[in-house]
Amino acid sequence: VFIMYKVVKKATELIQDILKDVINEDDIVVDATLGNGKDTIFLSQLVPYGKVYAFDIQERAIKKFIEDTDMNIIKNVVLINSGHEHIEEFVREKPKAIIFNLGYLPGGDKDITTKADTTIVAVKKGLEMLLPGGLMILIVYVGHENGKEEAVQLRELVKELNRKVFSAMEINYSSKDNNAPFIIIIEKNDNYRGHI
Ligand code: SAH
Repeated sequence: VFIMYKVVKKATELIQDILKDVINEDDIVVDATLGNGKDTIFLSQLVPYGKVYAFDIQERAIKKFIEDTDMNIIKNVVLINSGHEHIEEFVREKPKAIIFNLGYLPGGDKDITTKADTTIVAVKKGLEMLLPGGLMILIVYVGHENGKEEAVQLRELVKELNRKVFSAMEINYSSKDNNAPFIIIIEKNDNYRGHI
């Protein structure tokens, strides 16, 4: 059956709509999980005068991206074969958005997943780095064990955020089963200029 919803969109689509509203042509953005590269390509088109930093620990993912992508359209993409928990070593500018598509790469090695410990480190560092008015978006997959632990720890982290600096929401697909991925969106107060 061909299924189409205009409002309750797929997570990836919903996120793209939000990013379109927030990101300017010269912004710096981070794709914390390159994976199949779809988000990186989308972001690259949103910031023709800016830059996309894309991380992946799997060299395979980076190589595949380079092979499959027209290099002319990804001039503004910096590919980083390292963990996003080291974000501050590679990204010196303040990003307007940082996105995480967690879990494992479909069609790839299912044992290589993002992990709670490193995800949390990256999220904390990323929130610190974000521009005022910037966004962090995470798609959290809870269908595997690491994902369940990630969800628990991310929800704890969100609860502990400084409310003067951050506001967050979760989007759950409540008509789907409990293992369906959900979205966390964290926005940094546009008036905030200090240290978190
Ligand atoms: N679950 C998503 C795709 C996630 S891809 C979906 O179904 O569409 C997640 C990517 O994150 C993988 O390519 C994996 O190699 C990468 N990854 C895992 N740990 C990482 C880390 N610490 N830093 C950067 N990338 C990481």
